[in-house]
This record gives sequence, C-alpha cells and structure tokens, in this order.
Amino acid sequence: MTATAADKRDIAELPCDPDDILLSYALEASLGNHEYEDTLEKWRVTAHLGEDVGMDDIPPCDACTAKWQAAYDADGYVDEDERCPHRLVVGEFELVKVRWSGSQNPYWAMREESQSLSGIAEAIFIEEPTDYTEEFREQIGDEDIDDLLVLYKAELADVWRGFGLGPMIVADALRRLSPGCGAVMVHPTPIDASGMTKDQWIRAREGLRETWARIGFVPYARTPYMIYATKWADPQIQQVAVREELEDLSAEWRAARAAARVSQSGLNS
Ligand SMILES: [Zn+2]
Repeated sequence: MTATAADKRDIAELPCDPDDILLSYALEASLGNHEYEDTLEKWRVTAHLGEDVGMDDIPPCDACTAKWQAAYDADGYVDEDERCPHRLVVGEFELVKVRWSGSQNPYWAMREESQSLSGIAEAIFIEEPTDYTEEFREQIGDEDIDDLLVLYKAELADVWRGFGLGPMIVADALRRLSPGCGAVMVHPTPIDASGMTKDQWIRAREGLRETWARIGFVPYARTPYMIYATKWADPQIQQVAVREELEDLSAEWRAARAAARVSQSGLNS
C-alpha cells in the first residue's frame, strides 16, 4: 500500500506527472439483485494512466517480461509492437457501501460476505435487532447514522508507492461515494503479509495507520479498525486540500525532470 512520510521516495523516481493519473469508477451489480447488491454496493476504483502517456519510464511487469522472454527463447525474436498494458495501472481500490435500505440485513450481509467485513460488522453492530452500537454512535457523535462506507482495499503498484498518492486517491473516492454515509471504516493491515516477520508486519501496519490518519481516520475504540465520520471533516472540503497537495507534487515532479534534463544536456555537451 502507500508508504509513510518516513520512507518518502525521491520525487525524481515518480514515473509520470501525478497530475496525469485518471480514476475510473465501476460498480457491477446484477439486474435481479442476486448477490444482494442493493445492500452491499462494491465499488472498484482503478487509478491509471491514459493510453497516450509515455510509458518509457515504467518497467514492464514481471508477467509480460517472462512472456516476452519465453517468446524470444522459442522464436528468437519478440514482436516490436508488444507492450505491457499493466504499466498503465497505478493502483486498485475497493470500497463497499453498506446500505440500510437494501433487501438484506446489513449486519448479516457483512457477516456472510468476507472475514474482513464480518470483523467490522461485529465491532460496530448489535445483532438483534440490528443497529449500530451505542459506542459507535458516541464516537461518531451522531444519533442518526445512515449508511456506512468501508475502505476495503487500497493497493498501489510498486513504482507509485512512497509519494503520498494513496490518500489523495482515497480522498477522491470518499468525496464521490460517501454522500448518504455517516461514517467510513478501514482495517489498516497489509494486503499480503506472506514472508513478513512479526516486526515487519507491525511496521507495515503502523505505516498504514499513519497514512489513513492523514485524511482524518482515527482509531476506533479498542479495535484494529479506524473510523472517519463525514460530519467531522466534509470530504468535499478535504479534497480541496488534497488537490493542492497534488498540484505541489506535480510541480515538484516537473521541476525535478527539468533539472535532470539540464544536467543530462550538460553531460552530453
Ligand atoms: Zn504486463
């Protein structure tokens, strides 16, 4: 996921101008509501570059490299038009909107969907009759909480990590998807913990907690979850601040590229 301020990378390593990043929002649902999509709306947000962006600074992915190598080994050449389309992907994000007006009980829908959503459901709902817990309402500071938004997955491709882009992309998603939601929950934990030592896992988790704290998430009670109430900080206003950060990052990137070109032409002359 995104890196912490402590291990921020050199801006010159950013492969493209961050201002060129596009966001595509998708919601797949069956017409017949077979998966109770009216209760759990699963939104996928893909951060990517347009086809017209030069990809020379982004290495092809391992799978494409292996495929080309295999073709070369077999035929002795690789088609020059072969390109790695995966280089255009900056990151994948998933958000689940939990809706009270759907055809299923939100508590049971979350319990049945996945272990991760089940854990959140148990932390914030009472089962019978299903309602938010008193503790949850108190922390939000609101008696009338409507729907809930869960930041379910946030993953950036390696070359894009370490520049603070994760919170910027999520701020956009919250502004777009949180209307009607009283709160947003996240479980900050590494997506792939395989091969991590206990210490590495703790550091990764702490890094993620710092990342989400930057856009307003705070620890939720004595649980591993973090929470953000939309009434604490209007996502609309929040995003204005984040866009200013993006402008600064973009300007920094352009300055670093211009400086690199000057030193390059100095070397060539
Ligand atoms: Zn590829």
